[in-house]
Amino acid sequence: MTEVIDRRSTFAAPLVLRFASFWQDGVTLYFVYADGAVRTWQSDRRGISPLIQLGAIAQAPVPVREPALVRVLFHVRGAANLRGVVAGVRIATRAEGDHANLVLAGLYAFFAGIAVALILYNLALWSAMRHRFQLHYCLLLAALLGYTVSSSGLLAWAAPILANNDRIRFNYLFVGLAGGAAALFTRSFFEDQPLPRWLDRGSQIVAMAVPMSALAVVVLGAANLRHADLLYTLAFSGLLAIVVPTLWSAWRLRSHFLWLFAVAWCAPLVLASVRVLAALHLLPWNFWIDNSTILSIGTEALVSSLAVAYRIKFLRDERDAALTREVLARQLADIDPLTSLLNRRAFLQQAIGRTDPQQLLLIDIDHFKRVNETLGHDGGDEVLRLFARALRGAVPAAVLVARMGGEEFALLTPADRRIEPESLLATLRRVRMPFDLTITASIGTCTGTLASEVDWKALYRCADTALFDAKAAGRDRARVSLLRLG
Ligand code: GH3
Ligand code: MG
Ligand code: MG
Repeated sequence: MTEVIDRRSTFAAPLVLRFASFWQDGVTLYFVYADGAVRTWQSDRRGISPLIQLGAIAQAPVPVREPALVRVLFHVRGAANLRGVVAGVRIATRAEGDHANLVLAGLYAFFAGIAVALILYNLALWSAMRHRFQLHYCLLLAALLGYTVSSSGLLAWAAPILANNDRIRFNYLFVGLAGGAAALFTRSFFEDQPLPRWLDRGSQIVAMAVPMSALAVVVLGAANLRHADLLYTLAFSGLLAIVVPTLWSAWRLRSHFLWLFAVAWCAPLVLASVRVLAALHLLPWNFWIDNSTILSIGTEALVSSLAVAYRIKFLRDERDAALTREVLARQLADIDPLTSLLNRRAFLQQAIGRTDPQQLLLIDIDHFKRVNETLGHDGGDEVLRLFARALRGAVPAAVLVARMGGEEFALLTPADRRIEPESLLATLRRVRMPFDLTITASIGTCTGTLASEVDWKALYRCADTALFDAKAAGRDRARVSLLRLG
């Protein structure tokens, strides 16, 4: 580099040289001073690892000397990076370097804290709900957390013996895992609204290819980083390539989560494009572009947490609707559709098993055939409805009231709260019917226990005999029959 620096590194305000960390075998730095003296810093087996600060910025101290620093020369061996050999070079004071560390520590800690909280929270949710997308989401967060540790440079501080290239290998591995997990998450998230087959297959392939390509960089990186990196970039382009059709088909399926997904993927799409421009040298090297992966997938993960919450709300709504449907279906199965009284099946279900004495009343409308002949079948139905409503209203709510079939009804009540059949008949006689038709009914009652089906048959027969007697005696009256014991 040809720029003249002309700054003094003093004990009071020592200077540092900051530059971006790239894949390389080794670096020698030559600090040239105004008096012609040269001081060097030579990397060892670990590369620039000992210089790494937060944000994975290498920071070399400029040796303190009286004359001004006028030039720094880089000798980079085995550089293998698509983005250049040396980038982001800056002379700063030590204090500025410390300040940058502090700011970045806050940023990374913020992100890591969110990731840890989201992992725990989603694992807890998963243990309750067992949806696959929840696990995929946790995997995505865990990979991002790993990437935060390696790409922030924290890994270099935690493991000083680790070579810088190996730390970069971890970056690739974690981003690859995060990319694979993002593909799995996208796929499983829309599970109940299946994506087209080719897209589902595509997502599956990408979910495998992205981490595999990262592994290729890890293994082959030293020998041929250029090709491994190309493979990796291609696999990642695959990930972005499935996002657009996934959003498209979610839109076509009218998915409720579409807008959240679109927002979540917006940041990765835009930042990936910016990265491509930077890789093509259409944009200059920039710290934030270099760290955009963590920003973009971080945004994706955060917004996805909203998508997860939204999805859970829908699961809950679906469950509530299913419960309501079930209750409704059960009610419908128990209810006679014409009169809304209990049907025979539901009546028996609630009646049999009552061990204390019960009064059974069988009520049959008199000459109903004539009603049908006079009013027609629909008119007859209306009479049945009005009669049923009057019957239900005439007795306390605790009394079982059922339509046993045709124009025959049954009431069941504990014997100690018996119903007076004559007064019931009087009430029923007063019901206003179409065309002021007079409708009368006959009642047969009997009292007994209902512990079993056999008891029911005996009690029913007894009440039916009483009903027959009432009909035979001229209708519009009630008769009581006694249960024959033994
Ligand atoms: P009785 O006084 O001896 O009970 O005479 P009835 O005419 O009421 O008795 P019967 O059992 O001979 O006739 C009952 C009639 O009720 C026959 C049938 O067409 C009619 N029916 C049964 N179910 C319905 C229904 O759901 N709607 C209508 N409109 N009529 C019904
Ligand atoms: Mg009848
Ligand atoms: Mg009848």
